[in-house]
Amino acid sequence: MNIPHQPSQAAATDTAALMQIANRPAIVFTHGEGSWLTDRNGKRYLDFVQGWAVNCLGHSPRPLLQALGDQAARLINCSPAFYNDAMLELAGALTAASGLDQVFFANSGAEANEGAIKLARKWGGLHRDGAYEIITTDGGFHGRTLATMSASGKAGWEVLFAPKVPGFPKVPLNDIAAVAAAITDNTVAVMLEPIQGEAGVIPADDGYLKDLRQLTRERGILLILDEIQTGMGRTGTLFAYQQVGITPDILTLGKGMGGGLPLAALLAHEDVCCFAHGDQGGTFNGNPLMTAGGLAVLTELTKPGFLDQVIETGNHLKTGLTALAARHGFGALRGKGLLLALDLRRPIGPAITAAALDAGLLLNAPRPDSLRFMPALTVTADEVDRMLEILDSVCDALPEAAGTAT
Ligand SMILES: *Cc1c(COP(=O)(O)O)cnc(C)c1O
Repeated sequence: MNIPHQPSQAAATDTAALMQIANRPAIVFTHGEGSWLTDRNGKRYLDFVQGWAVNCLGHSPRPLLQALGDQAARLINCSPAFYNDAMLELAGALTAASGLDQVFFANSGAEANEGAIKLARKWGGLHRDGAYEIITTDGGFHGRTLATMSASGKAGWEVLFAPKVPGFPKVPLNDIAAVAAAITDNTVAVMLEPIQGEAGVIPADDGYLKDLRQLTRERGILLILDEIQTGMGRTGTLFAYQQVGITPDILTLGKGMGGGLPLAALLAHEDVCCFAHGDQGGTFNGNPLMTAGGLAVLTELTKPGFLDQVIETGNHLKTGLTALAARHGFGALRGKGLLLALDLRRPIGPAITAAALDAGLLLNAPRPDSLRFMPALTVTADEVDRMLEILDSVCDALPEAAGTAT
């Protein structure tokens, strides 16, 4: 895309007008294309964060631009009180792809999870004598609204913004006995991520997920999978549960679903779809512009060979990172497809991401001892090699990384 580069004066100086919700570096991005970002000084960055695994087709991908342009020219919003053709088409494609029956569109992952929590509680009211508790996992991340913060098991969050929404008992991940022991008459569901993303790419074991599916069926409660980070091709299949051979009762999607657009969804099995008119909604939900974008993304992801390419590139990245880890005394890789994390064995993640940024590479350290890699699903092998080169030289230059692990 060749867009004339004219940053406004305000954008150039006025960071004071923004609430300080993150320690942002003094960089202002103005352009993106594929795996590359450009700042207002013209410096280029290789992007292995992609808006937190959001831009699954990279920055400003053509199919998305085309769909947005066409849809914007036709119809941007007609209110969620009416059907629109893009919403219907995307809902049909998602239910067909997922094995679930109905969709509710949302604008963010947290909002999709809020909807999942409400749907489960409604179902518990109707079918489980008012049961409302949802068992979630230590280290899990489900969003930043009050209920989804309560559902999250992020260390330190217990005390933030009290009082919390009650009804989210926690269990350790990958411990099926702990779940079995935590189920009571008040339990309506178990909710978790197939791979805990924000916790540092910590996978739920396949056997554990299968056991969870069986246990929740036996006990008559729901299984909710939060695939906001793992879904939409990120792990090499459209949804991570497809590699395990289970289907959840409720599924939430976000991040990659809109290819960078604010689009998320809650899907459910027909037995669970019990919202009555007026129970759930939202001004922008299912608007034609975003759902047309989502449809363009899903169309790309489901083209023959696309997901094979994700697995292939993921393996290439894994091989390269394994060699790099050996060279620098790092530990094991975690994750699947193009959602990988490297155990650094020491808290040098922030130092590496800062040095990488200077060197023109965007990386994320979800915790101090780990680097997370979540490039565009369309990232090329050459771009992976370039990333590895930059990371390698950054690690060489770090005094802490040179010696043996402490
Ligand atoms: C990012 C994320 C969310 C929250 O999504 P938002 O769009 O930021 O609200 C929820 N669950 C998981 C697993 C996520 O990775």
